[in-house]
Amino acid sequence: MIFQQIHKEQQEFFHSQKTKSIKYRKMQLELLRDVIKKREKEFYTAIDKDFGKSEFDTYTTEISFLYNDIEFYLKNLNRLAKPKRVKTNLANQLGKSSVIKEPLGNVLVIGAWNYPYQLTLSPAIAAIAAGNTVIVKPSEIASHTSRLMVELINSTFSREFLYALEGDAEITSALLKLKFDKIFFTGSTRVGKIIYEAAAKQLTPVTLELGGKSPVIVSEYADVDLAAKRIVWGKFINGGQTCVAPDYILVDKKVQGKFLEHLRRYIDTFAYKVDSPHYSRIINDKNFQRLVGLIDSEKIYCGGGSNPLTRFIEPTVLFPVAWEDKVMEDEIFGPILPVLSFHTFSEALHAISQREKPLAAYLFSNNSKEKKAFSERISFGGGCINEVVMHLSNENLPFGGVGNSGMGNYHGEYGFDTFSHKKAILDRMTWGEPPLRYPPYTDSKLNW
Ligand code: NAD
Repeated sequence: MIFQQIHKEQQEFFHSQKTKSIKYRKMQLELLRDVIKKREKEFYTAIDKDFGKSEFDTYTTEISFLYNDIEFYLKNLNRLAKPKRVKTNLANQLGKSSVIKEPLGNVLVIGAWNYPYQLTLSPAIAAIAAGNTVIVKPSEIASHTSRLMVELINSTFSREFLYALEGDAEITSALLKLKFDKIFFTGSTRVGKIIYEAAAKQLTPVTLELGGKSPVIVSEYADVDLAAKRIVWGKFINGGQTCVAPDYILVDKKVQGKFLEHLRRYIDTFAYKVDSPHYSRIINDKNFQRLVGLIDSEKIYCGGGSNPLTRFIEPTVLFPVAWEDKVMEDEIFGPILPVLSFHTFSEALHAISQREKPLAAYLFSNNSKEKKAFSERISFGGGCINEVVMHLSNENLPFGGVGNSGMGNYHGEYGFDTFSHKKAILDRMTWGEPPLRYPPYTDSKLNW
């Protein structure tokens, strides 16, 4: 197959040392930025065809991320790539020690469909910045965006440096038989395990950006109006198909009534109606059927409506939900929001800690003890206090999961490090030999 040939070409090109030039990397990043800018309209059209995402949402949650990433690396590349001098210990005097961040080599990026541009191109941008050659495989599920990215990359870049291909599980399995220097995967925990297993056979390092059930705690000390507003935005943006979307709510019994009313009010205010151009559809029939199957008609607090022809599902709040309910088994990944309640804050933290470590967790509270306990007691990839989702927009924060929600991270400097090897160099003077170092270890040396 052609990609096996390209894989070989990319390895050879990497060994030519060309990608080690900072100037070369910057030129490639600028080229990518310029071609995205030039064809930005096509990006909006393709994603709209895939799942009805608005131009505004696509710009704010996808395209602007790509521009920011590229600008970040253009601005910071010299600093990030510069060898770093570190202290030299006594045993190695007189010498100089440094850490060189070298590119790993030829890397594979496998994307997910739900933020297809960001999740495919952002890791590729970091890999380019770090000096690698890259093969990119977008998700076939969002077929229009996948086709666009593949065509755009392959018509712009030399294939020995950056190449994209379309493909499903079968193509991905064939790709995984090749030896890469790194695999960066975004997708489900189920497929993440397949990737990890295949990579292990070649001893290839992986970054796995996976999913999970991300909880939100709404405490009695929360501004419940603001909590509801931010949660409704973060849950229903992209039709709920966001890896860090609030999956379920744990609300203190004392404020649950007020909180639920605000939830309903904001869903109405944001006008997520059947004909709304600002509300995404479900990606395919399979996911539509799965999601509709999670709506327990006896527990609908608001919403619940759907249309299979347009794959529209109304923003749906379920209450009161129990841990045993079907909707609490797996990541929802759609516009259904289960609400459970708790009596004590400790009980909420304990409940979260009993489950798989989520990709994100959120707390709404103005109580400093609760904030501290939330940050320290439970494990999750990353999260926010009095906010949802937005932590991933700060390039100074690492983005990634823990446990079942993944391993490794990226964004900003973390992305650069993800695609680099930290090579240690000790450069010693050729004089000043320590007298005791070499054998034979005579008595006089041992008794020194
Ligand atoms: P998915 O795991 O079905 O697919 C992801 C990629 O894996 C696609 O490119 C697909 O072609 C490939 N793939 C699918 N089956 C495969 C197989 N058997 N062998 C090899 N490759 C295979 O995930 P998805 O449906 O695209 O995305 C949804 C999931 O991704 C959710 O769980 C979500 O939480 C997670 N996600 C995580 C992040 C993150 O940054 N952590 C971001 C977005 C989505």
